Amino acid sequence: FQIKMEDLELMDELGKGNYGTVRKVRHTRTKVDMAMKEIRLELDESKLNGIIMELDILHRAISPQIVEFYGAFFIESCVYYCMEFMDAGSLDKLCWGRATVPEDVLARITRSMVLGLSFLKDELQIIHRDVKPTNVLVNRKGEVKLCDFGVSGQLEKSLAKTNIGCQSYMAPERIKGESQNMLGTYTVASDVWSLGLSIVEMTQGTYPYPPETYSNVFAQLQAIVHGDPPELPAEIYSDTAKDFVARCLEKVPGRRPTYAQLLQDRFLLQDEERGQGGVDMVGWVNLAIEERSKKRERERSEAEAQGQGKG
Ligand code: ADP
Repeated sequence: FQIKMEDLELMDELGKGNYGTVRKVRHTRTKVDMAMKEIRLELDESKLNGIIMELDILHRAISPQIVEFYGAFFIESCVYYCMEFMDAGSLDKLCWGRATVPEDVLARITRSMVLGLSFLKDELQIIHRDVKPTNVLVNRKGEVKLCDFGVSGQLEKSLAKTNIGCQSYMAPERIKGESQNMLGTYTVASDVWSLGLSIVEMTQGTYPYPPETYSNVFAQLQAIVHGDPPELPAEIYSDTAKDFVARCLEKVPGRRPTYAQLLQDRFLLQDEERGQGGVDMVGWVNLAIEERSKKRERERSEAEAQGQGKG
């Protein structure tokens, strides 16, 4: 069935992205809770219609590692995109500090991501193009799923113009312009790089390139192209984990493994052997949510103290 705005009851705000707000909503007839993303686009009606049609392919993206798509519609110049509500939020905010993700949890998250990416590629011929911790969602059941992949050429084109992201997960070859036509020749290898960088970020709790580069896009891109690739923190993770990350963060795209090869890597085979109940994902998610609340509380009181200092 088609989802319409009048069937949705608006609930909490879940977060703000680069392009708009994500809200929790309840579909009143079915009582299903959903996450609704609002994307503001200055496009005419026929283009917006085109986007809605292109998004239709998402109804076929059904996999345990992909956030389920419920439907999309537009009102005026906003596209509304309804998807499965993931009650623990995105991975970036769950990895709260250095080495707070135990290796078995890291391997489970990584294998979920690789399975999701390989499903998209093999079943739907979709390359994600935006692999990063904010686009990996988690729920309290301990499930890890991907969202925000590039399915609509028109949508990608409109968003690219307004891309203001300051932390780049782009592979060196894309920065150098070897894949000039970004939409045409984007390859899986570039997603494998972004996967590697996301893993390092999870283990550090921060974007892996030096903080000096956060506010200087040029310096950051220089570091990605000319610097050594980031590594997992020493002495905390096994050589197996470190080798896996190093394979993903090969600067030459042709040397990076395919998803099939990654699934055969020891790091992910070990995770498969641990089995469904062999990793305490639920325990880790609960702990991470608790730490996230504490961090938010600290930030709030710091901001308040600062405000008082100024006043
Ligand atoms: P970005 O533009 O940075 O990728 P999004 O607009 O996709 O961010 O999402 C903003 C925030 O909203 C996310 O960081 C996440 O916390 C929350 N969010 C997005 N989708 C969902 C969802 N399906 N379920 C729960 N929370 C979500």
